[in-house]
Amino acid sequence: MTEIDHPSPHASWETRGYWEGAGRGALVLQKCGNCSLVQHRPRGVCAHCLKSADLEHFPASGRGEVYSYTVTEQNQAKGFAEACPYVMAYVTLEEGPRLLTVIVDCDPDVVTIGMPVVAGFVNQERDDREVFAIPVFRPSAT
Ligand SMILES: [Zn+2]
Repeated sequence: MTEIDHPSPHASWETRGYWEGAGRGALVLQKCGNCSLVQHRPRGVCAHCLKSADLEHFPASGRGEVYSYTVTEQNQAKGFAEACPYVMAYVTLEEGPRLLTVIVDCDPDVVTIGMPVVAGFVNQERDDREVFAIPVFRPSAT
């Protein structure tokens, strides 16, 4: 099975902490100091209370479960075509947020809703010496 050749992420001022954290092997989320919401995707403001001054970045456990998924049989996009079939999934993290990702290191036929998964990271080659990585998920033993 060929792995997806993920395109390099574009790091904005809102997302840089997320991509850099992934490059260190950490799934970084944001927690609002005003209302305690834990959010993903990274933003400049809390998606619930819209306060921006008190967002804390923290490393999540990397554990979650499959909320929903689909097996992608065809994709002509560069880097993805050779990897078909692969599993696109929404994973609900232990901390609450749900993110769109891929499930790797297993046969697509074994993926189920509610399956426990754990984050892994695909490092990105960059010519500016920064290290970014793409979070992916694989089946967990627990
Ligand atoms: Zn808030």
